[in-house]
Amino acid sequence: MRKPVIAGNWKMHKTISEGFEFIDGIKDKVKDTDVEVMIFVPCTMLKSMKDYTKGTNIVIGAQNMHFEEKGAFTGEISPLMLKDINVKNTLIGHSERREYFNETDETVNKKILKAMEHDIDVVLCVGEKLEEREKNIEKEVVKEQIVKAFADVSAKMFDKIVIAYEPIWAIGTGKTASSKDADEMIAFIRSEIENLYNDEISENVRILYGGSVKPANVEELMNQDDIDGGLVGGASLEAEQFVELVNF
Ligand code: PEP
Repeated sequence: MRKPVIAGNWKMHKTISEGFEFIDGIKDKVKDTDVEVMIFVPCTMLKSMKDYTKGTNIVIGAQNMHFEEKGAFTGEISPLMLKDINVKNTLIGHSERREYFNETDETVNKKILKAMEHDIDVVLCVGEKLEEREKNIEKEVVKEQIVKAFADVSAKMFDKIVIAYEPIWAIGTGKTASSKDADEMIAFIRSEIENLYNDEISENVRILYGGSVKPANVEELMNQDDIDGGLVGGASLEAEQFVELVNF
């Protein structure tokens, strides 16, 4: 039985005091859930949010991490820096990182391998662009992202990996993939993981859907066989909506 995940991605939103206010608004309302609750916050508030959520079931993670431990990489954050503040989770390969910051399947792979080396859990984001879906090549695109992301990643690392399928055309647009389309792609990703590894890994790996998840559609998405949770941008910014998502 895979434990469901609701993960918020705050992108470039919120100050530290707004982050604290959000935690005050959700912590008692999500404390008894069977869902794993994660929030990926801006780097400026990683430490204070990590400290503020101590003793709760809310996992605080980074939105990105560099693949080197140190060096001349202005503006970047290394795995050692995350460990230094006790942060053990990060998103890797979000489509906005790929689109605006030149992240490639190769850098995604290096980041995953480095995270594994440092015992940092990863939510890997994959997903196709609208024109790729219109050309009916979405499965090839996602398969290539998966194969390249997991090059040299061993089966025993998989308890530290969650995958998020996020069709780019559904992110922040209000357009959600139909629950059937999302489930079909997620089942496809699961079968590719079986091809790359084995049946046990593919049955156990958690695969989330992301793209305009909100209280109105979360239940239907979560009722699909292969969807294990949501990676949520916009609707994770409001405490009340986030609580509704966790308690779907
Ligand atoms: C995201 O940030 O990964 C995302 C899916 O955003 P939204 O929920 O706003 O579409």
